[in-house]
Amino acid sequence: MSDPASDPVGTPVGTVLRPAGEAHALHLDAVDPLPARRADFHLPPATAGGHAEVAYLAGNSLGLQPRATRAALEQELADWARLGVEGHVEAARPWKPYHEFLRGGAARLVGALPAETVVMNSLTVNLHLMMISFYRPTPERYAIVVEDSTFPSDSYAVQSQARLHGLDPAEAVIRLRPRPGEDCLRTEDVRDFLRTEGHRVALVLFGGVNYLTGELMDIPTITAAGRAAGAVVGWDLAHAVGNVPLRLHEWGVDWAAWCHYKYVNAGPGAVAGCFVHERHLADRSLPKLQGWWSSDPATRFAMGPDVDPVDTADAWQLSNPPILAMAPVLVSLRLFDEIGMAALRERSLRLTGYLAALLAAVCAEQPARVITPADPERRGCQLSVRVCGVAAEEVCARLRHEHGVIADARPPDVVRFAPVPLYCTHHDAWRAATALAAVLASAAGRTHDG
Ligand SMILES: *Cc1c(COP(=O)(O)O)cnc(C)c1O
Repeated sequence: MSDPASDPVGTPVGTVLRPAGEAHALHLDAVDPLPARRADFHLPPATAGGHAEVAYLAGNSLGLQPRATRAALEQELADWARLGVEGHVEAARPWKPYHEFLRGGAARLVGALPAETVVMNSLTVNLHLMMISFYRPTPERYAIVVEDSTFPSDSYAVQSQARLHGLDPAEAVIRLRPRPGEDCLRTEDVRDFLRTEGHRVALVLFGGVNYLTGELMDIPTITAAGRAAGAVVGWDLAHAVGNVPLRLHEWGVDWAAWCHYKYVNAGPGAVAGCFVHERHLADRSLPKLQGWWSSDPATRFAMGPDVDPVDTADAWQLSNPPILAMAPVLVSLRLFDEIGMAALRERSLRLTGYLAALLAAVCAEQPARVITPADPERRGCQLSVRVCGVAAEEVCARLRHEHGVIADARPPDVVRFAPVPLYCTHHDAWRAATALAAVLASAAGRTHDG
C-alpha cells in the first residue's frame, strides 16, 4: 500500500480511520452495485457507539434472524393448533415429506445433486453418522487426518471414533500444523503429506474454512490428493456454507456435513446438512446406523420388519424431522436461492477486501496482526486478528459495550470479524475497524502507564 492512489480503500492509510474514512465508507455503500439485504434481517439495537443498530460482524458464529422466519414458524404452529396429527398430511407444507422442501436449496448451496443432499440432525451428529459409514480403519490404513486447529467438537468426534474402533486417538488422529512461524496450512504441504503418508490414512477431515484463522482450504486439490492416496475425504463445511461457492459433486468430495446457523442464518442450533457423493449412494454394503426415516418413504409406514433401503442421502436419516426447527432453514435457503451464491461472493470479496485494508491500517499502528490469508481466493468473509498484550475476550467486550460492535473472541488472543455480505455494510466494517483501533490504543496506553 505504498501508493495511496492505488489503495483499495481510496484514502491514504493515515486517514482511513478518520471521519473522511467514514464518509468514504458511506459512499461505498451508496454506490454498492449489490447492496446488503439488511432490510430482510433483524439488526440488534446498539447500546453504545451512538448508532441505532450494532455493527454485527459475528455472523460466522450466529447469523442474524431473517424477518421472514417468524411467519414461517407461526405457520407451523398454526397448522399444528388447527390440525393436530393431520398436519402430517394436511399442513400447508405437510410434515411427513417436510425435509424434501429443503433439499433443493441445500443442494444448490453446496453444489450437489438433490439425491446427494439431506437436511437433518445437528453438525456433530452428522459427522458421526458419516464416520460410521466412511471411517473403516484397517491395521494398515487407520489414521484420520485433521488440521491441528480443527474445531474442538470435530476433534472430540474423531477421537471418539478412533476409540470406537479400539484405537488410541493419540496414534490414530494425525493433526497437521502450519509451518513454524505461519498461521495457516499450505495446500502443497497437505498434498505432500498425503503423497508420502497417505497409505496409512483412512479418512481426511478438514474444515472447508478454518473456524479460527478463516483460511479457505483448497477443497478440490486436497480432495483429489486424499482420494489418490486411497483415503476417504470428508469436509466440515460449517464456516464455508453460505460463505463461499461450493461444488461438492464436481470436486468429487466423498461426504460433507455442515450447520445452518452461521452464514445460513437459520437460528441457534438449526438443523444441519449432509452430503454423500453419488458414487456411494447405491453402495448398500456401507455400514449405517438406521431408523425408520432411513426407509423408503413409499413403504416406510407399512412398518415392516426391515429397512427398505433408498439409494439417496436420505438413507442416513434416522428420525422424523423436527418441523419447528426446519421452518427457519427453509426461509434461509430461499434467501440464498433468490440472491445466488455467486453474487454474494462478489459482494463478499469487495466488503472483506475493504475491511482487510482497514485492519491493515489498524495493525500498522497497534500490536495486532491479521492471521487470515491475504489472498482473497484463500479466505471467505471472516478476518481473524491476533491481538497482543490484551485478552481477545476483553477486546470483544469493549467493542460491544463501548462501541456497539459485535465481533467474536477465540481465547486467548484471536478476535474474528465477519462482514457478512447479506447484511453487513462498508460502514459496519469501518465502525469495527475504528472501534478496534480505539480499544487497542487504550489497552496499549494502559500497559504503558504500568
Ligand atoms: C460451529 C461448528 C461446529 C458446531 O457443532 P454443532 O454440532 O453444530 O454444535 C462443529 N464444527 C465446526 C467446524 C464448527 O465450525
